[in-house]
Amino acid sequence: MQKAADQLCRHCVLGSGCAHYDTRPKTCRDFLCDWMKDPALDAAWNPLAAHMMLYSQGAQKTVLVDPAYPHIWQSAPYAGLLQDLAEKCEQEGGYLILFCGDEVRRIRSAKTERPPEVPTA
Ligand code: SF4
Repeated sequence: MQKAADQLCRHCVLGSGCAHYDTRPKTCRDFLCDWMKDPALDAAWNPLAAHMMLYSQGAQKTVLVDPAYPHIWQSAPYAGLLQDLAEKCEQEGGYLILFCGDEVRRIRSAKTERPPEVPTA
């Protein structure tokens, strides 16, 4: 692919996908996002609908947000769904990390999310 991790592949055609799909590299052939692998993820997690893509590596589940939709993860139903996913990850000893452009954050379940700090006078 000869590209940096955060750069779009030169074979990617916006709006239609891979220009070399039939001859794409093995790395691409082997990769399946969580929506393709996990039947528990419903249609809301179809990357075309969610504008987010989920994948898992070891203990880390990663959410990649389409930078063209930078706030979608904070809107309904995704804010709640992400907290549910974070809870499932935590129950299994893992964690959920979200990338949106240069922003990286850990999403915590409602059980472990720290309350916002209240400034004192
Ligand atoms: S499938 Fe692979 S080669 Fe095709 S656009 Fe995606 S990253 Fe590039």
